[in-house]
Amino acid sequence: MTDLPQTRGRLTPDRPLNDLTWLRVGGPADWLFQPADPEDLAQFLAALDPSVAVFPMGVGSNLIVRDGGIRAVVIRMGRGFNAITVEGTRVTAGVAALDAHVAKKAAEAGVDLTFLRTIPGAIGGAVRMNAGCYGSYVADHFVQATAITRAGEMVTLTAEDLNFRYRQTDLPEGWVIIEAVFEGAKGDPQELAGRMEAQLKKRDETQPTKDRTAGSTFRNPAGFSSTGQADDSHELKAWKVIDDAGMRGATLGGAQMSPMHSNFLVNTGGATAADLEGLGEEVRKKVFQHSGIELHWEIMRVGEPG
Ligand SMILES: Cc1cc2nc3c(=O)[nH]c(=O)nc-3n(C[C@H](O)[C@H](O)[C@H](O)COP(=O)(O)OP(=O)(O)OC[C@H]3O[C@@H](n4cnc5c(N)ncnc54)[C@H](O)[C@@H]3O)c2cc1C
Repeated sequence: MTDLPQTRGRLTPDRPLNDLTWLRVGGPADWLFQPADPEDLAQFLAALDPSVAVFPMGVGSNLIVRDGGIRAVVIRMGRGFNAITVEGTRVTAGVAALDAHVAKKAAEAGVDLTFLRTIPGAIGGAVRMNAGCYGSYVADHFVQATAITRAGEMVTLTAEDLNFRYRQTDLPEGWVIIEAVFEGAKGDPQELAGRMEAQLKKRDETQPTKDRTAGSTFRNPAGFSSTGQADDSHELKAWKVIDDAGMRGATLGGAQMSPMHSNFLVNTGGATAADLEGLGEEVRKKVFQHSGIELHWEIMRVGEPG
C-alpha cells in the first residue's frame, strides 16, 4: 500500500498494535492513522481508495489483535476527539474521551452516568459495544451519535440505527463514530462520587483489575450482565458455566482463565494472541461438552493469525 491521502494527522506504516491493547498482544497494522480532528478524518476517508479496509479502535480494552496483525488502516483517535461538555442533563463526549472521565465530569455537574466509571474503554468503544455494568447500559442513556462513513460523510446515528443489544450494535463496516450524546438523571455530585468509589472498590474485590485482560471474555448465556444487586441470579453467568466445566485457572502458554474470575482471560506475561484465543476456544469446547451451552465471545478478535 503506497498512495494514502494527505493528512494533518499521523500515519505510521507497519505499526505493531500490542502496546495499544489491554492484553498487550497483536501484530502490526498495515497503517496506523491518528487523525488530527473530525474534518481531517472525513477528508482522509473520502480520498482513500474504497478497496482499502479501515478498522477503528478505541483503547483496546475489548480486543484480541491476532499475531499476524491487521491488513487495514487502523484508525485511533486522540486529542481532537476527546472533548466533554455538559449542558443541563445532556453530556456530549468525543469518542477518545475515556468512559471514566465522562462519568466523573458528568457527576461533578450533577448528572448520573456513574455506570461508566469502572469501564476502562473510551466512548467510541462504549457505544459500539453497548457497554454497561451494574444494571445500566449505554442504550439506557443514549441520545445520538455522530459518525463518519467509509466514504467520508458525516452522519447522525439514532438508537434505532444502532439497534442496541446486549454487548452488540449494528454499525456498518468501516464507519467511525466520532462523538456521542448521553442523557443522565440529575444527582447530587457528592452522592454520585460516593457511588463511583463504591463501584471501584467492588471491582477490585471481584475482578482481576490489575492483570492484563480484556474484561469479560464471553457474553453471559443469560443475555444480560451482572446487576450488582445481592439477589443477582448466577445460573446462566459465563463464569458459572466455565467453573462448572472445570476451566477456572486453566492455562495455555502464557494465557490463563483468571483464578479470581473465571470469565476473565489473562495474559500472565508472555502470551501470544494465539495462546489467548486458543484457550478461549478450549473453554468454549469444554463448556459445550459439559452443559451443552454455546458460549459467544464478547472480546472482539481481529486480524490474521501469526
Ligand atoms: C478490566 C476490564 C473490565 C471491563 N468491564 C466491562 C464492563 O463492566 N462492561 C462492559 O461493557 N465492558 C467491559 N470491559 C470491556 C471494554 O472495556 C468495553 O467493551 C469498552 O467499551 C471497549 O472500549 P474500547 O475503547 O477499549 O474499544 P476497543 O476495545 O478498542 O474496540 C472495541 C470495538 O469497538 C469498536 N470501536 C472502538 N471505537 C470505535 C469508534 N470510534 N467507531 C467505531 N467503532 C469503534 C472497535 O472497532 C471494536 O470492534 C472491560 C474491560 C476490561 C479490560
